[in-house]
Amino acid sequence: MTPAQIADALVAASASESTPLDRRRLQLSAPLAPYTTFRIGGPADVLLEAQTADELATAITAAKQAGISWFVLGLGANVLIGDRGIRGLVIRNAAAAHTISDDGTVWSESGTIMQELVLDTVRAGWSGLEHYIGIPSTVGGALWQNLHFLSPAPERERTMFIAEVFASCEILAEEGDRKVVDADYIQFGYDDTVFHHRRDVVLSATFQLTKADPARLHQILQENLSWRGSRHPWLQVHPSAGSIFKKIEGVGAGRLIDQCGLKGFRVGDAQISHIHANILVNLGHATAADVRALVAHAQAAVKERFGYELQPEVGFIGEF
Ligand SMILES: Cc1cc2nc3c(=O)[nH]c(=O)nc-3n(C[C@H](O)[C@H](O)[C@H](O)COP(=O)(O)OP(=O)(O)OC[C@H]3O[C@@H](n4cnc5c(N)ncnc54)[C@H](O)[C@@H]3O)c2cc1C
Repeated sequence: MTPAQIADALVAASASESTPLDRRRLQLSAPLAPYTTFRIGGPADVLLEAQTADELATAITAAKQAGISWFVLGLGANVLIGDRGIRGLVIRNAAAAHTISDDGTVWSESGTIMQELVLDTVRAGWSGLEHYIGIPSTVGGALWQNLHFLSPAPERERTMFIAEVFASCEILAEEGDRKVVDADYIQFGYDDTVFHHRRDVVLSATFQLTKADPARLHQILQENLSWRGSRHPWLQVHPSAGSIFKKIEGVGAGRLIDQCGLKGFRVGDAQISHIHANILVNLGHATAADVRALVAHAQAAVKERFGYELQPEVGFIGEF
């Protein structure tokens, strides 16, 4: 099917929904690189920027009915999209309504950018999300990943997880029904949740925060941003997808790559960061093929020298 035929089929399939898809809002052959933190990736046949959770659900339901493959993109912070792009429908989740109640209950659509939610809750004096400042993510991506960061300075003695403040979320289940589910359903693990194993989509989420002194919360924001800034390449200058390989407990994927002497090594415009060997950066015109070749090179070097198999943490999506 051509992109135009896919768009027509999606509109036809959504005709019976209460708010059918608007054909004018479906972009054809739309480049996806601008919607990823790596700034890499070919076009989506059809791209929709969903403005509400209802629109997100309608688009997925229509794609299923029309037999068109679909993919939900948040901030694109944990994906490498292939140079030939993604067939079918890509829904960029920009559903960003959110509310903060007097008892510290926060409700948010899943396309809200975490940074916005962190700042809004900190300004209102609610604690729980401040640990995740500076991590590029939507709320939906944060639940998919079980977003994590170190506990506040000076201790930094443990990893904190978004699961700790999670109350419930509404999903569009793989089977097509909308329902509210709790933490038992999500099965939060390390970089793992039910969303890695089922094609459920988070539509909105509820978090339970606790009262705190905004001055202390602002201190944590500053310390966390400073900590990250001194250890990670700066995303605005050197686009990346964060850690490229999964953590190896007690060893560190980055340390192994570093010990192979690979910091600064590049394939095309993809480079192993000089300051964090588990992060690959785009020096300007890197392709997905460059990144894949660099990933393979690092894997082979680590395997040969140390015997460890590095597993990519970032999802390789679409056609390469
Ligand atoms: C510079 C940098 C630093 C990072 N630091 C950290 C860190 O400290 N801690 C950490 O935990 N992570 C970190 N990450 C990884 C990244 O921020 C997380 O994986 C984040 O949760 C991705 O969210 P996203 O909205 O960008 O998802 P995307 O990358 O757009 O999508 C990732 C996956 O989630 C799925 N998804 C997205 N939205 C939904 C939804 N609504 N429902 C179901 N599935 C959905 C997508 O389909 C895809 O499979 C970092 C990344 C970068 C680039």
